[in-house]
Amino acid sequence: MQLSDIPGHQALKDYFLKIIDSGRVPHAIMMTGGDGYGKLALAIGLAALLECKNKTAEGACGTCSSCIKAQKNIHPDIHFSFPVIKKDNIKRQDTTSTYFLKEWREFLAEHPYGNITDWLTFLGAADKQANINVAECNEIIKNLSLMTYEGQYKIQIIWYADYLGKEGNRILKLIEEPADNTIIILILNNSNAVLNTLKSRCQSILVPPFSDEDIKVYVENNSSLSSKDKQELVHLVDGDLRLAIQSLSATQLNYSEDIMSWFRYSYKADPEEVVGFIDTLIGNGKQEIINFLTYGLHFLREMHQLIAQDSSENIKLSDEEKVVAEKLIKLIDMSKIGQLEQIFTQSISHIRRNLSLKILLMSMTFEINAILKAEVNNLVTK
Ligand SMILES: [Zn+2]
Repeated sequence: MQLSDIPGHQALKDYFLKIIDSGRVPHAIMMTGGDGYGKLALAIGLAALLECKNKTAEGACGTCSSCIKAQKNIHPDIHFSFPVIKKDNIKRQDTTSTYFLKEWREFLAEHPYGNITDWLTFLGAADKQANINVAECNEIIKNLSLMTYEGQYKIQIIWYADYLGKEGNRILKLIEEPADNTIIILILNNSNAVLNTLKSRCQSILVPPFSDEDIKVYVENNSSLSSKDKQELVHLVDGDLRLAIQSLSATQLNYSEDIMSWFRYSYKADPEEVVGFIDTLIGNGKQEIINFLTYGLHFLREMHQLIAQDSSENIKLSDEEKVVAEKLIKLIDMSKIGQLEQIFTQSISHIRRNLSLKILLMSMTFEINAILKAEVNNLVTK
């Protein structure tokens, strides 16, 4: 991964070039940002740029021996640490990233914008808890105490430093008293997940969502969708490139009819219909359910806007979706939409924590039922 492979994020790319050019590269960098914003890709791109033997004002050359190794994620001076699970008959407490490097490189090639769920799914361990353990921290200390093999810098990238927990203390000294030319890049979803002592010693870089324009460029270059579908997708993913990539591979971009059906089943509460609908959803797999719920949330938010603005200008819905939205608006008011948005938001975060999908969707159905029924009662009393 080179910085030039990543769409957009121009301000960050310029910043990287500037600190390298002025010789002021921080010893410890903390990159924080949401899923799908490209933190890992940026860290790898920065590492490749640092190691490039012929860098120019434009960036890494892409052709020197360092660039070629960095591209394959086999550069001996760029080390990776990431959450892992138990492997084969190695003791859990002895299992470190080193045992997963082969899988890691394959994963990076296939999912450069993937998250922890994608990683565990890739390992066939979606139901397992990953972590970064003491042995990993010792490995990091060892990596950075080595001489550089061929690069100018020793670089340690820690993906999901959120998982360091208290073990973060072990690498504190590395950050407080850095050896020459060592650079640690911590990548986090939530900067509060890491010890304050660590946080205060790192140069903090906030990675913003990709702009709609950046996502559009990516979608343009990587799909043959109609321009209308591309536009929809760009709005749908809201700056999350990971989601954009996933949605590109999903066949269906408009779930509004499915959302409508779900609300209908929820309202009627016929157990057979509800169970049938949920079983079909579950059959599509977890990722598809996340896409579906994420879509549902986007749809509700746009409906919210539709009611609030009393006009369909600036509403990020297609004509077909608007037809469904208009039907739904007759049944639910602003406050009900707000409550539904809340349920969808909570459920999406629950689903990422590996709750039983069936229980989650059933409980959502009951909650949707209560909201829709309450609305009817309100109408009656009005
Ligand atoms: Zn190069």
